[in-house]
Amino acid sequence: MARFIFITGGVASSLGKGVAAAALGALLQARGYKVRLRKLDPYLNVDPGTMSPYQHGEVFVTDDGAEADLDLGHYERFTGVSAAQSDNITTGRIYQQIIERERRGDYLGATVQVIPHVTDAIKDFVLSGVDDIDFVICEIGGTVGDIEGLPFFEAIRQLGNELPRGDAVFVHLTLLPFIPSAGELKTKPTQHSVKELRSIGIQPDILLVRADRPIPASERRKIALFCNVRPSAVVQALDCATIYQVPLSYHDERFDDEVLAAFGISDAPPLELAQWQNVVDRVTKPDGEVKIAIVGKYTSLKDAYKSLIEAVVHGGIANNVRVRIEWIDAETFSNQEDALAGLKDVHAILVPGAFGERGARGKIEAIRFAREREVPFFGICYGMQMAVIEAARNLLGIDDATSSEFGEEGTHLVGLMTEWARGNDQENRQEGGDLGGTMRLGAYPARLRDASKVAEIYGKSEIEERHRHRYEVDVSWAERLSEQGVVFSGLSPDGRLPEILEIPDHPWFVGVQYHPELKSRPFDPHPLFAAFVEAAVTRSRLV
Ligand code: GLN
Repeated sequence: MARFIFITGGVASSLGKGVAAAALGALLQARGYKVRLRKLDPYLNVDPGTMSPYQHGEVFVTDDGAEADLDLGHYERFTGVSAAQSDNITTGRIYQQIIERERRGDYLGATVQVIPHVTDAIKDFVLSGVDDIDFVICEIGGTVGDIEGLPFFEAIRQLGNELPRGDAVFVHLTLLPFIPSAGELKTKPTQHSVKELRSIGIQPDILLVRADRPIPASERRKIALFCNVRPSAVVQALDCATIYQVPLSYHDERFDDEVLAAFGISDAPPLELAQWQNVVDRVTKPDGEVKIAIVGKYTSLKDAYKSLIEAVVHGGIANNVRVRIEWIDAETFSNQEDALAGLKDVHAILVPGAFGERGARGKIEAIRFAREREVPFFGICYGMQMAVIEAARNLLGIDDATSSEFGEEGTHLVGLMTEWARGNDQENRQEGGDLGGTMRLGAYPARLRDASKVAEIYGKSEIEERHRHRYEVDVSWAERLSEQGVVFSGLSPDGRLPEILEIPDHPWFVGVQYHPELKSRPFDPHPLFAAFVEAAVTRSRLV
């Protein structure tokens, strides 16, 4: 029977609840327990798929095709457990289900209400499919006191009484701000946050307290006293040099011991943290550095590229180097001179996923620069599509080569995907259809061409990677492009969708239609990111 840990937040957002949940999952896993992490998001969108990355950061994609909160990425990276659609729920999805049921008449004349119908739906979500799990860690999005979060807090409060005694533990993450004029860390916001939580019936068992400096024993005692927790249950969470240090740091602060104690577990298996120490050593004590440019659109908001940044870090781990990312706003390039000025010092260039036309021109210039000057290039999704357009314009001489996504006349080498195979099923889409949840989403297989660079990198001939796109490269251009040295070295099993392109005569030029960054883990860096960073290292020795 699973035990449940509910993680809530207070005082401020962006305190790193997702990383906290993920790190706790990693610590429990390091004792041999089976864990599952879930995120409950109080916003009204059915999923984050249609939200701008500026609003909510990256949209994470699961194997089973869910567009999910980016915290699921942290969960996967810290525990290695692949997340699923059933690990992320929003108010929007819950209401959608409830209203559908109400329209069908499933409520048999009842008045449909937040309590019990919405709270029951939340509880069903939390409790479903966890029979073989030791610990389910549920993170509630937002902060205590948010109006839209109330049904979620109410649902977990009810679970505290409905689960067998001792099977639910509440962890509350807060912040102690340092006030320079007083020279002190202040506990009042934490006291108020816990007061708010208690007023809706939840007494936290453990307080995880973020601070930018060690918390004096006197302040801990004060927090314990005013928040009605044991002094040992006030756990300090200090800033770390890398997020991969968080599990080690939490363990030093006895967070995992405190969680186990709250469940009354005194005979937990011993902890094995060597692999975490190894990752931290590699990140903090690298042997050399390379510079990689990411030419993108949302460069001012790093959350928009969360998994990508982590996958690049993992590529550095694989090669024992630090990767310095140079963020380049694609809109600053409109010709090769601009590209030269911005890119002359970098050892590799990455063009990530994106939507819409903005920045396309600069990305195409960056890709041309990489191709012509033999700088390692990695194009992801949109980045691959732009690489095809670049090749068509500059190698095939098709000046009006473009993507139908841009809504302009021209030769469309990239077009709207209207039908594709998902296993034995056929998916169909039409122009002007709904935008939410209608892309080609989730894991799809691809076959790799024998003796290609990617087949060598992956070390296999069939792969499965996660997708999130609406447009596709037109496979009928394969021959003309390959005459110019640009080869589709990975295709969907039916041969209709180009999944990978490469230039065999270039030191490292690979474009992929999928998002390999989503499957990279610190212990198991994605082979493409490992190989790309290796190519950057090689380049750094040449220039
Ligand atoms: N906008 C492109 C498409 O929908 C690329 C998407 C992406 O980069 N994730 O096909």
